[in-house]
Amino acid sequence: MDIDEFRKQAHRMVDWMADYMAGIESYPVRAQVKPGEIAAKLPDGPPAESESMDLIFEDFQRDIVPGVTHWQHPSFFAYFTANSSPPSVLAEMLTATLGAQCMLWQTSPAATEMETKVLDWLRQMTGLGEGFHGVIQDSASSAILCAILTAREQATGWQGNKAGLKNVPKLTAYTSGETHSATEKGIKIAGMGSDNLRKLPVDENFAVIPEELERMIVEDKKAGMVPAIVVASIGATGVGAIDPLRAIGEICAKHGVFLHVDAAWAGSAWILPETRWMMDGMEYADSVVFNPHKWMFTNFDCSAHYVRDPDALVHTLTILPEFLKSREQGQVIDYRDWSVPLGRRFRALKLWFVIRSYGVEGLQEMIRAHIGYAEELEGWIEAAEDFELVAPRVLALTTFRYHPKGVDDEAELDRFNEDLITKLNDSGKLYLTQTRVRGKYAIRFNIGQTWTERRHVEAAWQIIQETAAGL
Ligand code: PLP
Repeated sequence: MDIDEFRKQAHRMVDWMADYMAGIESYPVRAQVKPGEIAAKLPDGPPAESESMDLIFEDFQRDIVPGVTHWQHPSFFAYFTANSSPPSVLAEMLTATLGAQCMLWQTSPAATEMETKVLDWLRQMTGLGEGFHGVIQDSASSAILCAILTAREQATGWQGNKAGLKNVPKLTAYTSGETHSATEKGIKIAGMGSDNLRKLPVDENFAVIPEELERMIVEDKKAGMVPAIVVASIGATGVGAIDPLRAIGEICAKHGVFLHVDAAWAGSAWILPETRWMMDGMEYADSVVFNPHKWMFTNFDCSAHYVRDPDALVHTLTILPEFLKSREQGQVIDYRDWSVPLGRRFRALKLWFVIRSYGVEGLQEMIRAHIGYAEELEGWIEAAEDFELVAPRVLALTTFRYHPKGVDDEAELDRFNEDLITKLNDSGKLYLTQTRVRGKYAIRFNIGQTWTERRHVEAAWQIIQETAAGL
């Protein structure tokens, strides 16, 4: 493709992009295709000869778009959102055009220096303390893995990386059953053994019981094990559980245990001063992660990972073959040492575009609106005879179930709610996902999509009630 053709096609595709954004509500939210349907439309082998962009783009629109779940649809209430925004998309276009691989300062000084600066803006915006240093990871899972590896190295006197874990005492980790599965995955990858991950009991609000944490740490120490890390959640995935950070932090400090805070979803809301109560005790955290790619209008992937001691992270991950040495080493940050993959995209650019384009106040307004809609939804559910909240609402996440009068058999209620979600999602009008709350099948309704307005939430609640009544 020559540059003139690129220009022509790019203009055309930007028009398609703008039309897609403007017309997003005309698509079904969740893709309405069957397994294998899209694959059947794709040739079994690659074309030997060049194909025209007109043809490729036509196929994209006809065959691929119907197989896409529209995460940017305002009636997307499933999982946690991966929201995006026009300024973020523009920055992604530029990032792709520059195509810089930003592993070292030298391989793109602007990317490195902007990453440091923008993550410090974000630190200030969210009220994280000055002692935190930021890096952008591809995902919260990567940040959690980095925390676990660092904790493992600290707990083994930096021997794990060198000599392996065979001759060191057994390392233990602690988290609640509410915490995202990324922690267990990280423990497995780090070679610490998922049997050594203690799942802490939770209280009536699904939060870690600090006394139980301390009891387990003391027991494990007595048994000759080395407690290495606690992963606390602020806004866990199931029902948004918030662990008591201060009490957990004091225990970690007392026993010399690394504390990582997973706030992948909720952390973006810290730009609102009224949510900062949940950060109380953050001064004890060794690291914390949240995803602007979930709730700060910044395209996936963009995970903000803050560490208190960058040297410990770098010491854990650094490896320096000749081909990665550079003249500036030691005078600059080489982010290659801050994450598991070597290669890095210029991710800071989209965050810079988003923060500048909306301003902190604009971002606050959008997130505050989402929380306000969720508050209203909570009120509607509370007032409805045949529905009940199954967990307290957290920020913009409401968890509830259909519970028609006179039906008290739990298995039947599970079936009702499963059928309800299936019917709703099959309608294409909205998208919801489920969780289990103390064994009960429940519906999660998370509000965080860029284009969601009150009317979308109201319409969704209407459809939910009508569909439930027809079960
Ligand atoms: N932690 C929490 C609380 C999450 O909700 C998620 C994903 O939804 C993760 C971690 C994992 O995030 P990522 O997909 O960025 O690895």
